[in-house]
Formats: sequence, C-alpha cells, structure tokens
Amino acid sequence: MINFLDLKKINNRFRNEINSRIEKVLDKGWYLQGEENEIFSNNFAKYCGTKYALGVANGLDALNLIIKANGFSIGDEIIVPANTYIATILAISQNGCTPVLVEPDINTYNINPDLIEEKITKNTRAIMVVHLYGQAVQMQKIWDLAKKYNLKVFEDSAQAHGAIYNNKKVGNLSDASAFSFYPGKNLGCMGDGGAITTNDEELFKKIKAIANYGSDRKYHHIYKGVNSRLDEIQAAILDIKLKYLDKDNQKRSQIAKFYRENIKNDKIILPETYDEKAHVWHVFVVRTKNRDEFQEYLKSNNIQTIIHYPTPPHKQGAYKEWNHLSYPVTEKIHRTIISLPISPVMTDDEISKVVRVVNKY
Ligand SMILES: *Cc1c(COP(=O)(O)O)cnc(C)c1O
Repeated sequence: MINFLDLKKINNRFRNEINSRIEKVLDKGWYLQGEENEIFSNNFAKYCGTKYALGVANGLDALNLIIKANGFSIGDEIIVPANTYIATILAISQNGCTPVLVEPDINTYNINPDLIEEKITKNTRAIMVVHLYGQAVQMQKIWDLAKKYNLKVFEDSAQAHGAIYNNKKVGNLSDASAFSFYPGKNLGCMGDGGAITTNDEELFKKIKAIANYGSDRKYHHIYKGVNSRLDEIQAAILDIKLKYLDKDNQKRSQIAKFYRENIKNDKIILPETYDEKAHVWHVFVVRTKNRDEFQEYLKSNNIQTIIHYPTPPHKQGAYKEWNHLSYPVTEKIHRTIISLPISPVMTDDEISKVVRVVNKY
C-alpha cells in the first residue's frame, strides 16, 4: 500500500534528535512559555522573515487571535475564499464577524483577486487569504485593494510553510499570518500546535497577552484573554523539524514536478503553479470527472488518496444559513478534486507506481 502520508516514517528520521531534546525539557522541568518556545519562535520568525512569531495552541486559535487582537467583532465583514478548510471561516464567525465568501480561481484554487472588489462594503475590515494546498496567493492585487479601501490583510498559511511570493515567504505577506503545526502539515509537531507571525510590534504584544489570559505580566490582566500556548515539548520538536523544512519542501517539489511531467492522461487535470518557489505542495490535487470511481480504482491498486475537501463550508450543516447559496466554481472543485500521495519520504518506486497506475486509468 502506498500511504497518502506516512507520518511515522517522516518523524522517525529525527528520532534521536527529538528524544534527546525532549530529555532536555524533562531535565529542565519547565513545560510552558520557556526556553524552547523562545528558541523556536525566534527561529520561526527568522525563517519567515518577520520580526515576530508566537507559538499558540493550534492553527484555528492563531486565526482567532489575529482577528480578536485587531478588535474585529459583530458587524465587521471579513473577505475569505469560499473554498478553504472550514477553520478559516470558523475563526471569523467565532469572533462574531461576518465571513464574506469569494470564489476561487479554478487554476490556482486560491481566492480570485478579480472578484474581491465587488464584495467590499462599508463594513469590510479585512481580507483573509488562504495559501491553499501550499501555493502562495499572488498578493499584489490584494495589497492594492487593501490600500485603496483601508483594509487589513491576513494570511492563513496553515498549508504553506516556506512558500515564496515576490521573494518573501508566506507569513510575511500581510499584517499578520496564522500557521498550523497539525501533524500532517509541511511543518508538523506531534500533537496540536500553531503560530502567528507579524511585523507589527503593537499587534504582537496584544496577541501575546490575549493568548495568555489577557495578561501582559503575571496576574495583571488587561484583556479578556484566552489560554492558547504552544507547549515546550512541541516547540522543541518543531525547532528540530524546522531545520529540515526546506529540504522536505524541495523533495515535495521534485515529486510534484515528476508527476506533472509524467502523468499523461486526458481524464486527469494536473495542478499548475505560476512559480516553482511559490508552491510547497502540501497536497497534490488533481481533478477528474468521475472522482469517486478514480479513487476506487487507485485504492484497488493500493494507492491511498484523500479529498481536500469533499464538502465546501457553505454546504456544511454548521452553516445552514448558507446552504441555499451557490458558489459554482467552489462546488465544481469540491466535486472533482482528489489528492495523490506526496511526502518527503516517498520512494522513487512509489512515485513511479503512482504515475504508472494513473496513466493506465
Ligand atoms: C489545518 C488548517 C487550519 C487549522 O489548523 P489546526 O491546527 O488544525 O487548528 C486552518 N486553516 C487551514 C487552511 C488548514 O489547512
């Protein structure tokens, strides 16, 4: 069986390093907001090219905290792509804000910048882009709109650690960016984890306080905060894996290139990228008309696949008020997409087999 993603194999490569670093945490006996967080957040900020980074409990919290710290709430509208993982949209509604859905571009799967302006109203406060599937959004038009209408720009970078647009990494393309370190992400820990990056000192201090019970110093609470912290063991693990992120992303790129050059089947639409550096191939998403049949076919050939995602947010039970709405591009994508295996630990044999089996479909 070719696994979609072999997390055990991915993490086993760092077993010794991780074990000795966890022992260090045990020796120190300090589990939250300590040296490991200090080291990792500095290294992660440096990696992204931002002044600041803060470890938090997960990606959803990172998104939530960015919106909360900006003071956005009831009545405020935030523009967001209609085809994203539901977390992006939940973070907006959990703050009482209104998510305003915009259709994606069918070729990049990212938000279609040409459809944003018509959705801007006097209540619009921000544009939340999502670097979906690992490909950096082409930001220029979004920056221009934000300037024209005085809007904030935020990034959901949960799938795109290391992707580059205009010589800058994601996480450094907006007012603030949210990352997830969920185990299956390109940079993943061994449990839940997330981070926020920003260049805005004031915003950073506010987010840091809100994430720690609204406290800027011990027992001094200036905001009605939350508890969202990255623990020391996860920070230690992430700091080790960060060193290998670029190499892992390169391997993903090589596989994606091999797939794109060698999969030749009229029934399969391959993903594109506007720049090799812009895509870190968190997932390799192809489209095909009879998606379920194709998935069954791959399964019978021992190739595991996943759908990212089978149902768009506006058709979910959680958003009944939107169920009658139609976003045809989004719906077409969700109906026809399927993600082929891609990971830094796939062997050449496995990669070739995927190509061979897909071409025979
Ligand atoms: C994974 C993911 C999140 C949520 O991250 P968690 O750490 O699971 O909370 C948010 N947005 C996108 C696009 C994601 O892929």
